[in-house]
Amino acid sequence: MITSVKKKTLILCFAFIVCTVLCCFLVPMTSDIGVAKLGKTIVIDAGHGGSDGGVTGGVSGVLEAEINLAVAKSLKNYFERSGYDVVMTRKGKDGLYSVGAKNKKRSDMQARRDIILNASPDLVISIHQNFYPLESVSGAQVFYSDESENAVEIAEDIQRSLNSKLGNDRQIKSGDYYILKCTSFPSVIVECGFLSNRAEEKLLVSAPYQQKVAYAIFSAVHASLGGEGHDHG
Ligand SMILES: [Zn+2]
Repeated sequence: MITSVKKKTLILCFAFIVCTVLCCFLVPMTSDIGVAKLGKTIVIDAGHGGSDGGVTGGVSGVLEAEINLAVAKSLKNYFERSGYDVVMTRKGKDGLYSVGAKNKKRSDMQARRDIILNASPDLVISIHQNFYPLESVSGAQVFYSDESENAVEIAEDIQRSLNSKLGNDRQIKSGDYYILKCTSFPSVIVECGFLSNRAEEKLLVSAPYQQKVAYAIFSAVHASLGGEGHDHG
């Protein structure tokens, strides 16, 4: 009798421990995987890559392409955790031009356009860093194409969020850029800051600031596309 009670207690204890351990490991995984899909697709485009590093940080020598990819990856995480389907144009360091392409830039940009066309996204977000001869110029800025009516509103939302979360004071601007015009899907370019401004360069190379920029973009888009007003910042 005593041994049977002991056995039962032992089995219960063991089961309890196994459950606790499983819960600890499985809950975060299932909550990530089990996120309800929103049925919305975002293309995230990390500008430049490979032999095209973009602009270079005046102090650190950092390549724009590296920061673009880091912000793009952070953005991908935020969107996926909230149930969006995310398609990345550039997933790694390399550019998207085909080997042996005579005009690498053109080949790279056409590959990006093909990815966007395949994804039929609700929004294209292209990530870049800015550079200007005058060091005092700083701040994140959103560009849109004035040929795409529905991109203006989302560009405004993202700019407002960047201004309030990063302490910027800039306005959206229309731009004649290939990535904005190569498809008819709503598209914006986010220039996260100026690598020609020392203080901003220092921020832009840090992972926490890259995440902050990504969150500012994500929260504005999610408030607009996610169906609920989660963040009005
Ligand atoms: Zn760029």
